[in-house]
Amino acid sequence: MANPIRTLLNTLLELFYPSNCVGCGQPQDSGTFLCELCKATAPRIQPPFCRCCSRPFEGAIDGEFSCPNCEDRALAFDCVVSIYQAKGVLRDLIHRFKYGGHFHLRRVLTEYLLEAMQDSRLQATPVDCLVPVPLHPTRLRERGFNQAGALAEVLSKRARVPVLHCIERRLYTNTQTRFDRMERMLNLRNAFALRENSNVRGRHLVLLDDVITTGSTLHECALVLRAAGAESVRAVTVARG
Ligand SMILES: [Zn+2]
Ligand SMILES: [Zn+2]
Repeated sequence: MANPIRTLLNTLLELFYPSNCVGCGQPQDSGTFLCELCKATAPRIQPPFCRCCSRPFEGAIDGEFSCPNCEDRALAFDCVVSIYQAKGVLRDLIHRFKYGGHFHLRRVLTEYLLEAMQDSRLQATPVDCLVPVPLHPTRLRERGFNQAGALAEVLSKRARVPVLHCIERRLYTNTQTRFDRMERMLNLRNAFALRENSNVRGRHLVLLDDVITTGSTLHECALVLRAAGAESVRAVTVARG
């Protein structure tokens, strides 16, 4: 944990005030994490959206389609299921979870993942293991925890799917937010590798991350899993950046 005392305080607050909305802090009695007003600030993505990366498309398209971002490159994953935009309360929750020491928010964020796991693309074939996108050891020391790993642990218990920490991040990459898609892909090349003594041969895997932006990170991780003999590689994220 980045700050154990702050995390403990947050956990205690949550224990004593479980009925307050985690978005606005207002009391509510619905027994859910978020009040209706907060939840409405990050609505679910409606069709049509890209069947590969879940990117929404404005306009009328019938049936399945791929967006230009996916169409012109050979992606190593079968699909990324990401059914909410990272805006409004959801963007705020993810930020507080990753950078603000609000570790307890992993539970509400997992609710979004559980909903995504119901998507037909993830239900079509059984999932053998969840594979969280790893952080570089230096970044892990800075942040105190791996957000994808923390979410995978909670989702594992709720969805009854084991977690496999089988990828490691070898290269410390600079923050990618300034980069365009091509720069991100070059920046990430060979950043990931299969961990020693990991065996994914023949398995149906689902990569897990907090947010998808261009999909380059998930693509690079999927390449590693495919090369190691995984039968299928899909991915799930809390939201689209
Ligand atoms: Zn609220
Ligand atoms: Zn796409």
